[in-house]
Amino acid sequence: MRAFYWLALVFATIPLGFGWASLGHGSAPMGFGMWTVGGWVVVSRITLLLAGEEAPWSKDLAMRVQNVKNISESDQSCCSMPSPHWEVTAIRCITCGKILLNEARPDLGRPRSDGKIKGLIRLLLTDGKPVVVSSEDESDDSEE
Ligand SMILES: [Zn+2]
Repeated sequence: MRAFYWLALVFATIPLGFGWASLGHGSAPMGFGMWTVGGWVVVSRITLLLAGEEAPWSKDLAMRVQNVKNISESDQSCCSMPSPHWEVTAIRCITCGKILLNEARPDLGRPRSDGKIKGLIRLLLTDGKPVVVSSEDESDDSEE
């Protein structure tokens, strides 16, 4: 998934290249549109890189999620019938309600009730990052 995330930079050069050719020799509005789309992807990836942020679904996150699953299947589980579910703000055990991992769920473009077009726009704006802040992050902010 992370490779695909950064591969978007490579694919963004295709509309950038065709847009350049279209601006010079073909339809200017078409070229401008291609530049806008390709430029959006390149700028969003580069700003993330400069900010030192990972893709919203990192290997580190996957390891922490797997760790929650391992603990729930071991003797140290939260209750006798552990059933961890990744809710919007955290991974919580459905049986006992205990929060197992305070990590907001990344938005991977699941089908939602708001339809494909609104969902696509939301995914473009958030770039797959969770919209809500996990309660752990909120408490960090209040301490500052
Ligand atoms: Zn439990």
